[in-house]
Amino acid sequence: MAETKYIFVTGGVVSSLGKGIISSSIGKLLQARGYNITIQKFDPYINIDPGTLNPYEHGECYVTEDGMETDLDLGHYERFTGIKTTKENSLTTGRIYKSVIDKERRGDYLGKTIQVVPHITDEIKRNVKVIGKKYNYDFVITEIGGTVGDIESTPFLEAIRQLKWELGKDAVCVHLTYVPYLKAAQELKTKPTQHSVKELQSIGIQPDILILRTEQHLNDGVLKKVAGFCNVDFDCVIQSEDLPSIYEVPVEMQAQGLDVAILKKMQLPIGETPSLGPWRKFLERRNKAVEEVHIGLVGKYDLQDAYKSIRESLLQAGVYNDRKVILSFINSEELTNENVGERLKGQDGIMICPGFGQRGIEGKIIAAHYARVNDIPTFGICLGMQMMVIEFARNVLGYSDANSREIDEKTEHNVIDIMEEQKNITSMGGTMRLGAYECVLAQGSRVLDIYKKENIQERHRHRYEFNNEYLKEYERHGMICSGRNPESDLVEIVEIPGLKWYIGTQFHPEYRSTVLNPHPLFVDFIKASIENKKK
Ligand code: GLN
Repeated sequence: MAETKYIFVTGGVVSSLGKGIISSSIGKLLQARGYNITIQKFDPYINIDPGTLNPYEHGECYVTEDGMETDLDLGHYERFTGIKTTKENSLTTGRIYKSVIDKERRGDYLGKTIQVVPHITDEIKRNVKVIGKKYNYDFVITEIGGTVGDIESTPFLEAIRQLKWELGKDAVCVHLTYVPYLKAAQELKTKPTQHSVKELQSIGIQPDILILRTEQHLNDGVLKKVAGFCNVDFDCVIQSEDLPSIYEVPVEMQAQGLDVAILKKMQLPIGETPSLGPWRKFLERRNKAVEEVHIGLVGKYDLQDAYKSIRESLLQAGVYNDRKVILSFINSEELTNENVGERLKGQDGIMICPGFGQRGIEGKIIAAHYARVNDIPTFGICLGMQMMVIEFARNVLGYSDANSREIDEKTEHNVIDIMEEQKNITSMGGTMRLGAYECVLAQGSRVLDIYKKENIQERHRHRYEFNNEYLKEYERHGMICSGRNPESDLVEIVEIPGLKWYIGTQFHPEYRSTVLNPHPLFVDFIKASIENKKK
């Protein structure tokens, strides 16, 4: 297409309605029509990125190939559409302000007074447009975090107002709201939606399309009422009922003509409805997979979103093994040598989760030990891998004080050590080893068998690493390094060949698993867990 088109996704009434899923679904549906798309998120908080946020604040921190720590919605974007996002896909109020303030300090504004309007809004607009131009996308879908009416999202909405005015038919606003059902009155209430649209209109934005989140089916009467009150065409009012899986959303949105509504608004040809073949096949397979396989997630965050990409990767891998994956959270802080057997009982495979800091790590070591000596398929990611390494040092190599420098600075046996390049870094934000790095897999290793190629690239987010001084000793005792970085020689993967499946990765494979392209490590781990269950 000659000109890039822009779709803004805003939210009203309450947060957590699933703007990320709607944005991803729009992306998916446009891709199916042959368009080249990207999805971008603006988060109205002041942190430069979510990298320094506690997962309790904001769920998982997702990492892009180019090493940006981002909101977990970017994970949905990639999983739904298979696109690769970059640092241009994730912005915060903090980043916008920082770039304006940096320009001011450089003197770029030539003595002008710097204000929210126009300087901050111009910077927001520039960031929306630049991504479309730079990569020549047909569509840029921009999701605005937060809810209309929040003080902090006002500059973003003002930028959208201006962009809509400038771009005319090349920009649409999709507004997602909520229609609550009042049990006592047995009524669905559209008033919050009306108010939310009024709020948008008062800023000068007329939404083009409304998506109503609802727990009950909305009849045409309700949809007509909303259309009438909100100045929106009837065929542009779409409902989004609760569904058994987020992956059903694109199909449901297509059935209601969301993509057609967008194309019509933008005066683009409609053409035939794409069949979404592979996607539907995935859903069919998912629905047919009833036989269960149980995976225990050993971690410290009792919060689903904290391990979002890992959970999704495991569930996807289940589908490709025709199994329903049942995930149980096992709180590593509560694990002891006495209760570990009972707590891990019934799990066909164990995932030892990533993390930072002291809390809950001894429990991860206990779980790794139990899984190793009982030969339960085990997958450790980042901190999880590091805990597998420490466990092996303590119980096989005989170094009872073995630890990571992150946990015990003075340990004599620092089998996990701070990376050389990290030693002089004191600032916390964006300073880890981040993003995609090369890894070469060892001949004869299990992982080479799984990946079926020698050279891979995976994404990272860590400060500590396997201490190569101990490598020979590990390998002599049966834990081998089966993947290493060709430049720095950092150990990227460890495995114990004699066991059913005992693999730890310093990188995060979960950031690369998508619905149509599940990650081979996850698929193979689930396969091994199923075989383990049979026995
Ligand atoms: N805390 C560990 C490190 O910095 C592991 C990080 C992680 O699990 N993402 O190396």
